[in-house]
Amino acid sequence: MKSVKKILVFILLLSLVMSAFVSCKKDKDEDENGEPRAWWLPTQKELNVSSDSLYVTKVDNLSDDFIFGMDASAVPSLEAGGVKYYDHDGNEKDVYQILSENGINYIRVRVWNDPFDKDGNGYGGGNCDIENAIAIGKRATAYGMKLLVNFHYSDFWADPAKQMVPKAWAKMGIEAKSNALYAYTKECLEKLVDAGVEVGMVQIGNETNGAMAGESSTALGGWKKITQLMSAGSRAVREVCPGALVAVHFANPEKVTNYTSYGKNLEYYGVDYDVFASSYYPYWHGTYENLASVLNNIADTYGKKVMIAETSYAYTAEDTDFNGNTISDGSAITKNYPFTVQGQANLVRDLTNVAVNDIRNCIGIFYWEGTWISSGGESWEENSALWEKYGSGWATSYAGDYDPNDAGKYYGGCAVDNQALFDKNGKALESLKVFGLMKNGNVVENKADAIEDTTLIIDLNGEIVMPTTVNAVMLDNSKKAIPVEWHNVDIEAMKAGGVAKYDIVGTADGMTAHCYVSMVEYNYLTNWSFEDGDAGWEAKALKSFDELYVEDKVTDSLTGTKHYHFWGASADAVEFTLEQKVENLPTGKYKYTISVMGGDGGVTDIYAYVKINGETVYTMATEITSYGEWHSALIENIEYTAGDEIIVGIYFKCSGPNAWGKIDDAMLNSVKE
Ligand code: CA
Repeated sequence: MKSVKKILVFILLLSLVMSAFVSCKKDKDEDENGEPRAWWLPTQKELNVSSDSLYVTKVDNLSDDFIFGMDASAVPSLEAGGVKYYDHDGNEKDVYQILSENGINYIRVRVWNDPFDKDGNGYGGGNCDIENAIAIGKRATAYGMKLLVNFHYSDFWADPAKQMVPKAWAKMGIEAKSNALYAYTKECLEKLVDAGVEVGMVQIGNETNGAMAGESSTALGGWKKITQLMSAGSRAVREVCPGALVAVHFANPEKVTNYTSYGKNLEYYGVDYDVFASSYYPYWHGTYENLASVLNNIADTYGKKVMIAETSYAYTAEDTDFNGNTISDGSAITKNYPFTVQGQANLVRDLTNVAVNDIRNCIGIFYWEGTWISSGGESWEENSALWEKYGSGWATSYAGDYDPNDAGKYYGGCAVDNQALFDKNGKALESLKVFGLMKNGNVVENKADAIEDTTLIIDLNGEIVMPTTVNAVMLDNSKKAIPVEWHNVDIEAMKAGGVAKYDIVGTADGMTAHCYVSMVEYNYLTNWSFEDGDAGWEAKALKSFDELYVEDKVTDSLTGTKHYHFWGASADAVEFTLEQKVENLPTGKYKYTISVMGGDGGVTDIYAYVKINGETVYTMATEITSYGEWHSALIENIEYTAGDEIIVGIYFKCSGPNAWGKIDDAMLNSVKE
C-alpha cells in the first residue's frame, strides 16, 4: 500500500511538473550566468537597423531586457479590408515581422469579451475578441515576441471615461461577476497557451481609473468591488500562466493624488500584482518629471515593477483616412515636439530615457497602435464601408446599442492614423527604427526639421517690426534661430486696420513659417497677457485649493502663450482675487476688460472690479462655461483722477468640484472724451 501511495504521489508530482511546463513554460531560459530567466522577459535578438536620416541620441544604461512593446490590435481588421504592410525597403511583409526586425520585443493586444451585436456585427476598433488575440499572439510568437494580453473586461473600449460591464455580466452581483471574470480570464489564457502563444504579461483591466467592468469607486464599497474583480483576474493568471507578470493599468499620471490613491487601494485590498502600468500621452499627461515622480512613488512604496503601457505621438498634422484625428494642428495640447517623423522618434527616445534612467523598476514602454493606419480608401464613403464591414475604424454603427452616447453618435474611422509608425500606404516610417537605434545612438547631420510658430503682440501706437529670424526645431529637438523671409507683409494696412490678428506666412530653410501678429490697443496695464509670468500681478487665494499660477500653454491662452490658470479638486474650494495696481495713470476716462475661460464651476460668482483709493467702485459679472469659450467682462466709463490709487482685478468663487479656468488679456484703455 505504501509503495502504491508513493507511486501515486510521484505521478501527481510529475503531472504537476508536466502541466507547469506545458502551460506556463516558467524559467525556460537561462541568462549569461546560467541563472534562470523569468518567463516574461523579452527574448534577445540580433538587430540590423541603420538609418541615414534619423537622429537618435543614445540612451545610456539601456539593457537588452528592456521591453519595447507595440499595441497592434487592429491589424487583422485592416488586413481583412485589404491593407498591406511594407518594410523600410518597400518589401511587403507580415507587419509583426517588420516590428520584430525593428526592435519591438512585445506585442500588446486588447481583448473585449463580446464586441458584437446580436446579429454578429462587430463593434469596430478591430473587433478585438479573444480569437483576434490568438491570431495576433501566434504571429507575435512566430517572430520571437512575447504577448501582453490586455483584458478590458468590457465588450468595447474601456478607458477613464467608460468602463462598461460586458453584456453577459450585466445582471450579476459582485460575487457572480468576479467568478465570471475569473472563469473568462482562465478560459482565454488557456486558449492562448494551447495555441502556443508566449504570454509574457497579462493586464487585468485597462485604464481602470476608479472603475472596472461596470463597478465604480464612487459607489458604496466601490474599491472593494473593483479590487475583488482584479484579484479574480490575477488568480486566473497565476494559475494558467505562473511565469507571466500580472499588470494593473491606470491613466492620467498628471493627477498625482489619484495615483497615490490607486496604490493604496491595491495594497489595502491585497491585489496580487507585479506591474503598476501607466498610460503616458505627452500632450495630455504632464511632464516627464511628474511621470517619474508618481511611478517612483509606487515603485518605492510597494516594491512593484512599473511600466509605460501606452504612448504615441503624431508624425503629421494631416488626417489620412477622412476621419478627424484626436491630435492635429490647433489641438488644445502641450506640443513639445513638432509633428514630424523625427518628432515622433524623439518622443520615443526621450520617454525611453526617462523610463530607463529616471524611473526605478521600470521594465519597458509600449507604443499604442503604431500599426493602425488608414483603411486605404480614397474617400470617406469608401473607408466607411470598410470600417462597417471589417471593424477597422474606432467604432461601427452597430456599437450604438452597447455604447449609445459615444460610439452611437460618433462612430467612424481611425483617430490616430497620424500617430502610427507606418504611413497611410502601410510603409514603415523611419521613426520605427528608433527602437533599434537607441542603444548605440545614431548621429546624422543635425539640420532643421520644423519651424516653430512666432507670436507677436504689437501696440496700435507702436512700431511694427517683423522678426528676421525664427526658431528651427533641429533633428535633435534643440532650437536654433535661422533667417526667415516673410511674404506679403503690408505694414501700413496693419497700422490702419486697428485691433486685428494676422497670420503672416514666410519661408525659412525651405519650410513654411508662421508669424501670428496681434494688433492691440494701448494698454495701461503691464504684463497684461501674462507673458512675463506674474510680474505686476498679485494673486490672493481666499480659500485653500490646488492650482493658481501662470501657465505656459499656447492652446489655452487667448493671446500669446501664457495665461493665469486655476484648478480646485474639492467642492467650494476655489475663491481668489487676481489684481494689478496701476501706476502713473493720467486723469481721464477709461475702460477695463479681462477675459476668462473655464468650466465645472458649479455655482459661480465671478466679476471684474476697479478699486479706487481702496474702495470697489466698479464691477462687472462674467461666467465660465466650457473649454474654448472665452467670456470678457467689460467695465466702461471709469473716471479717474491722477494721484488716486487705482487697482483693477478679477474675483472668482466656484462651488463645483474640479472647477478650472484660465484668465487672459487684461486691458485698461483710455476712452476718447
Ligand atoms: Ca483619421
